Amino acid sequence: MRIDILTLFPEMCGQVMNESIIGRAQKSGKVEIVCTNIRDFSGNKHNKVDDTPYGGGMGMVMAAEPIYNCYKSLYNEGEEKPYLIYMSPKGETFTQKKAVELSKKDRIVLLCGHYEGIDQRVIDEIVDEELSLGDYVLTGGELPALTVADAVCRMLPGVLSDNLCFEEESHFSGLLEYPQYTKPAVWREREVPEVLLSGNHAKIADWRKIQSILLTIDKRPDMLTPEMLCEKDKKLLKKNGIEL
Ligand code: SAM
Repeated sequence: MRIDILTLFPEMCGQVMNESIIGRAQKSGKVEIVCTNIRDFSGNKHNKVDDTPYGGGMGMVMAAEPIYNCYKSLYNEGEEKPYLIYMSPKGETFTQKKAVELSKKDRIVLLCGHYEGIDQRVIDEIVDEELSLGDYVLTGGELPALTVADAVCRMLPGVLSDNLCFEEESHFSGLLEYPQYTKPAVWREREVPEVLLSGNHAKIADWRKIQSILLTIDKRPDMLTPEMLCEKDKKLLKKNGIEL
């Protein structure tokens, strides 16, 4: 897969994407991440990419033409237009489901705004989708783009050691993940749940599923309520003496 990030701060994006798991995924060719500076397409000698808003008001707006030309530089005439996502607080909220959907594409382009945002006409002309990180405003689209790129990359084949790494994690299957523990078995008089030391894999799997269900109902009633449980999960809780 190839991910392009169009930004005024390519070094910032490159630095983050070259570290740790995503950095290794790039080195081993599982993903290619290319950060392009929109300023290189300013078309003027002062490298100016923004201007004052029509109608007055605070701040500066990123002009349409540099963004348009930057995007157009990514593909040749006649080639398929790469899928363009504008990171925006006005977009649909980014979710794990969306990350899975995007990880199936061969190529995506993430466009980062800055200042007061970007000229609406270039959004109307080239953007396929707008994605938001949440209901708050950041100074730029870089952190959202890096978040999307990270969440998408870790689901590409071979990036993590096993698909189970993300399939059992929070949100993948509509549940939050069970609590995790590592050595030592006792820390500050707090013990690791006994079942995890038992070596009984079926019991451990049941315990983890039950913890996931209880945790999700407790922390995220918007995701799961007792009424929404399927028969199989209801039976599992009953078998273990848990009544909700
Ligand atoms: N004036 C805009 C508004 O009120 O909707 C906000 C502009 S914001 C200061 C500058 C840039 O940061 C945006 O163009 C967008 O790319 C990015 N951004 C800010 N908050 C975001 C969020 N919650 N999700 C995704 N991108 C965001």
